[in-house]
Amino acid sequence: MIDSQDRKHLEQAKLFANISLESVEHLLERCHRLELERGEHLLEAGVANSHLYLVLDGELRVYLAGRDMPEHAVFGPGECVGEMSLLDSRQASALVLAAADTRLLAMPHEVLWSLVDCSHGVARNLLAIMAGRMRNDNLTMVSSQTHSLEFEQAASVDALTGIHNRRWLLEAYPRAIDRCERDNELLCLVIADIDLFKSFNERFGHLAGDAVLRRVARQLAEGLRAQDLIARYGGEEFLILLPRSALDEALLIAERLRDLVAAGCGLETEEGVQGVTISCGVAQMIRGEQFDTLALRADEALRRAKQNGRDRVEMAE
Ligand code: GH3
Ligand code: MG
Ligand code: MG
Repeated sequence: MIDSQDRKHLEQAKLFANISLESVEHLLERCHRLELERGEHLLEAGVANSHLYLVLDGELRVYLAGRDMPEHAVFGPGECVGEMSLLDSRQASALVLAAADTRLLAMPHEVLWSLVDCSHGVARNLLAIMAGRMRNDNLTMVSSQTHSLEFEQAASVDALTGIHNRRWLLEAYPRAIDRCERDNELLCLVIADIDLFKSFNERFGHLAGDAVLRRVARQLAEGLRAQDLIARYGGEEFLILLPRSALDEALLIAERLRDLVAAGCGLETEEGVQGVTISCGVAQMIRGEQFDTLALRADEALRRAKQNGRDRVEMAE
């Protein structure tokens, strides 16, 4: 059954590293050869498996989450698959298919156990193969956790300005409001909106507008205290939550932010430096008030700031 070509491949197999094939020849006779065409399935998730498959030549690919996702591992000559179900007698946990025409040696699990019984070398090699597999799985796990974190962050961060976005705000602000309510503390909300931004875009282009948006976001964020929260609510509008702050303090903070933007966000253009200003509406939370109505009142104050000439701060009545 084992011809000289197979023997050459088997001598390179990790399972037989540093042992002589003669010593286990009688057991190898109980294995059979298997040929797969490119694309053929060897193992399928959920289907029982009772063999270890040694790749003689060709290539196997392992898919953990179906064929549409990138493969988890690739196995070439000398490597093996199917060893996990040897230990737990469970069904295969992945889809394994031939990525090229592939020749395999199919070793029934009881033959592998006999090999382990009669050769310390095989036992040691099998342990090394499994340790390598676990290490690879751990790396995959760490990388997939990192990806989830990145996705989570991408979902809550505004891509243009790098500060939090509306989606994040709609979760975080009501929570912060509840906390202040529970702790019997004051809280204020500021809505800051860039003045006449539409015409700025029209005169200097959208890219220049984007650059200004980034600058304004940075100035605002840097002008806040550690406890304050800021997010881009959409367009050229920012919502700033000031926990543990009464209205007079919030008005001072809003004035400071307005100054910071007026002094630090101008853009050099062909027509000279173009100043940028914001208007702000400030509202202090009334006991028991929800985020929506607090935001409405701040918005109403903002509208008055616009009506009264822009580049100014107004407070809610
Ligand atoms: P007001 O002072 O009354 O707020 O005037 P405004 O022009 O700022 O207000 P309006 O709501 O009419 O226009 C907002 C403009 O903001 C419209 C749009 O061109 C601009 N804008 C919104 N989002 C972006 C963005 O992501 N990038 C750029 N460059 N512009 C944006
Ligand atoms: Mg505006
Ligand atoms: Mg606006």
